Amino acid sequence: MEKNLDHLTSEEIETLMQRYYAGESVSKLTKEYGISVRSSNLYKLFPPEVFPNYICEYCDEPLVINRPSKTMKNLPKYERDLYCPVCGHKPFQTHCNCENCQEEERNLQMERLQQIEEVYSKPRTPVDFASLSFENKVFLGAICRALLKENLYEIAPFSNSEVILTPTDILRKKLYSSLIHNQVIAVSPQSPLDAFDIDSEDFPNTFYTYRVTYFLNLIFPANKQDLFTEILDPSYYCPENADEAVILWKEIAVAECIEYLQYQLDKVNFEFTPGEKTYKTFDIILNDFSVSQIYGIIWRAVADASKLYLEKGISKKHAANSVIGACERYAERAKINGWDLTQYNRIKDLPQSVLSLFYFNRVLGIGEMGFRVPPTIV
Ligand SMILES: [Zn+2]
Ligand SMILES: [Zn+2]
Repeated sequence: MEKNLDHLTSEEIETLMQRYYAGESVSKLTKEYGISVRSSNLYKLFPPEVFPNYICEYCDEPLVINRPSKTMKNLPKYERDLYCPVCGHKPFQTHCNCENCQEEERNLQMERLQQIEEVYSKPRTPVDFASLSFENKVFLGAICRALLKENLYEIAPFSNSEVILTPTDILRKKLYSSLIHNQVIAVSPQSPLDAFDIDSEDFPNTFYTYRVTYFLNLIFPANKQDLFTEILDPSYYCPENADEAVILWKEIAVAECIEYLQYQLDKVNFEFTPGEKTYKTFDIILNDFSVSQIYGIIWRAVADASKLYLEKGISKKHAANSVIGACERYAERAKINGWDLTQYNRIKDLPQSVLSLFYFNRVLGIGEMGFRVPPTIV
């Protein structure tokens, strides 16, 4: 008894198949033809059906479909079941994994990486660090502190870095676009492929801001270290920068207030998207109070709103929206009455961002005062 059909001629196999599909007893057939297989598996030994109209693009061979069991013989056949008997290619599957397709995919990837390399290797005019605005110097320092690679030249992708660069996403977006727009950092030709949208017609010109690697497009002095000392441990702050310095302080402070507000609202499951009004409100309150005091104002306003929601049955949306107004009113009363508001501490769920640390500790050298004093004069 054989385990396959090799001992039969093709005519014999043809007849055997006809008798099988005609419904003859399978155990009788296997005995008669000397085949050692369980009855239910006989059809699996049949040669696949050939479809001469479909040709494998790699091997130039006609594609085939496996034979069905006799109970399935009348079901329609689908293109997706076609495969090449030589290389296994399945041209009608969304994702064919045959050797040839894998090879083609590898080549395509190489080609794409070359395209990236080509587009982003174009020469650029480097920028002089000294000519940058105060804000861009600080932004650059923060990003270098957080993500500069050992080679002192490339900025690692922000994605998957677990770095807390800024208090809010909006401020992070501003930091990146300001540095990119002013050509302080530029996309590295060695960026990973997943930093680009390969399906875009524009490939590789569009890129994901937080997935690419950047390089520093700076004029490097003979001693590179001197420049990095100035970037990372700066001495560029001077009284002429005082106005810009307060503006940036305030911007970071507003972002820290919004970060804390969002955190407290999330904790009570209130949905809230901060808009212009929220920014403006904190901007005004910060004229009189520090971030650490505003933490207290926010904490209280959220607690009141969630109490209102539970006791008076107002909607969550309404409750969330009432919080900003409550912060504003409370801050006004505190100011008029000259209340000495409690200083709250930072909380461990919201670690201080790299931008905030770098700016207060390294650039301004005021440390905790950045949190505990209203951003009015440096
Ligand atoms: Zn093939
Ligand atoms: Zn394939």
